[in-house]
Amino acid sequence: MPTAREMTPVRTFLGRADHGADLLEELTGFCAANGITLGRVEAIGAVKTARLGYYDQNAQEYRFFEIDKHLEIAGLVGNVSLKDGKPVIHAHITLADEAGNAYGGHMVPGTVVFACEFCIQAFEGDPLVRGRDQATGLPLWDMT
Ligand code: ZN
Repeated sequence: MPTAREMTPVRTFLGRADHGADLLEELTGFCAANGITLGRVEAIGAVKTARLGYYDQNAQEYRFFEIDKHLEIAGLVGNVSLKDGKPVIHAHITLADEAGNAYGGHMVPGTVVFACEFCIQAFEGDPLVRGRDQATGLPLWDMT
């Protein structure tokens, strides 16, 4: 049975990330500066270069790879919750090249913004806190 908590959307921000900024650090910094500890994130735009993660389920560790070219952000979706007392964004991104080929993965630092328009919606509700999940090795939400 899935577990979930009901949230109430309270604030919505539309903004743009700085040219040359690290995409994940920029969005995470925005949340920290605005007291957003629970929410959802989406974005579109373009990046100069990308670094993404892929979770190896057998080894229970992330593999990282770089795509050193100009790419469109076809979609970025994610959420905001707490880990070690700080807001963290868990987001996945789909990037497209000049032929429309897509790359995708788990967002990590190292993706550099060319241009980016984002929407962050802040929720009110019981905090969601990440802790190590035994079955996956991932820092998932503790729903107990
Ligand atoms: Zn992920």
